[in-house]
Amino acid sequence: MIFTECTEILLLFYFKTSIKISRVQLTFRALRVKCTGKKICFPEAYCPGGDKMTTENDTERPSLKSILKQPGNDICADCGAPDPQWGSCTLGVLLCHGCSGIHMTIMEISKIKPLVDSKWADSEVQFLAAHGNKVAKLKYETAVPIYYHRPKYLDAQILKEQWIKAKYERQEFMDPMKRQTYQEELREGYLMKRGRDNGQYLSRRFVLTEKEGTLKYYTKEDNKVPKVAIKVDVINATFQPEKIGHSNGLQISFLKDNRTRNLFLFHEDGRVMVDWFNAIRAVQFRWLKLAFPAAPDQELTTRMMRMYVKEGFMEKTGPRQTEVFKKRWFTLDNRRLMYFKDPLDAFAKGELFLGQKDLGYSASPGLPEGRECGEWSHGITVTTPERSYVFTCESEGDQQDWLRHFNKVINSVMSPQDFAMESLLKHR
Ligand SMILES: [Zn+2]
Repeated sequence: MIFTECTEILLLFYFKTSIKISRVQLTFRALRVKCTGKKICFPEAYCPGGDKMTTENDTERPSLKSILKQPGNDICADCGAPDPQWGSCTLGVLLCHGCSGIHMTIMEISKIKPLVDSKWADSEVQFLAAHGNKVAKLKYETAVPIYYHRPKYLDAQILKEQWIKAKYERQEFMDPMKRQTYQEELREGYLMKRGRDNGQYLSRRFVLTEKEGTLKYYTKEDNKVPKVAIKVDVINATFQPEKIGHSNGLQISFLKDNRTRNLFLFHEDGRVMVDWFNAIRAVQFRWLKLAFPAAPDQELTTRMMRMYVKEGFMEKTGPRQTEVFKKRWFTLDNRRLMYFKDPLDAFAKGELFLGQKDLGYSASPGLPEGRECGEWSHGITVTTPERSYVFTCESEGDQQDWLRHFNKVINSVMSPQDFAMESLLKHR
């Protein structure tokens, strides 16, 4: 008898799982009956779509392992996470575990399968090999606006969900002429906003105007004057689901009278919230373009809103360093280290600027000699040209992590915008 690739595959399944034993035995018998000497007919009932199953050892068709080695397939097509473990048979992309879960919510357009321990029809493997992440990118991401936030694997889930739905389900980035809601010059709508003093979330009208370059909100429907008007060029916005306690929670930070002010917002519809986020980015980008007409677009995006470097609790003492240590919430945003009594405080209690090493900035473990720590014992001393700050962390790991981030910032060279911010904060 001549063994073809079909028979080999059947034998593989025979040894693999108990569930498939009877099926494989039956198939094998059928093959033997139908064997004509040179050619083995494969009964259609055992091969979905009339296709042959594929294996890693298959020499005639590309193996899943070889597809993973194709350029661009070594990372997730949607978030860039290394080592994708899943594939979409219908979109022809390779995905990480997290993004594969999001693809399960759009099953009508994306049929996903694990790359191991799963049946892949021959046509599906061929499709995946012929497409892959690079080809899919050219198809589905051809017209992503430069300001649109492409999520990375550490980003909030809402960003990845809406990115995947925008790409494949709504196909927002396939036609450069198609205008999206976040590209409009005026955007108006209602968002739930946390009350500054009582912590209650109430619906507030928000208006984003490209012409003015502002984001405003109104406390009452018929108010002519906004409660707050924020210039978009000083806005930073980050999704903070854990801190806000809502999967679509967005934190907006801005400087008001040279003091950091926070707004905490959400909308029940994830798409609406992400569209607001990208609409603010769009207006911010256009204003940066006006302010720096000669700067390349890519450089402007680096000046736009960004993720916080690190957030968490530390204890701090006062300027004399004899005061009692108090637990505070710290946020490191680029070179600004802000601290709050509570993570959801509207205003920062204070902040310091971290400049570059050769200008007198440093961060080191430990406390100044003779200084007793508070409840937490893992000290950090940050020195600026004006004074030194003393913090303590709950664990050594936390201390090392803060120090790593502080020193990364201090060891980098300040940009002209950093010098402007340093000057602004010094002359408050
Ligand atoms: Zn992913």
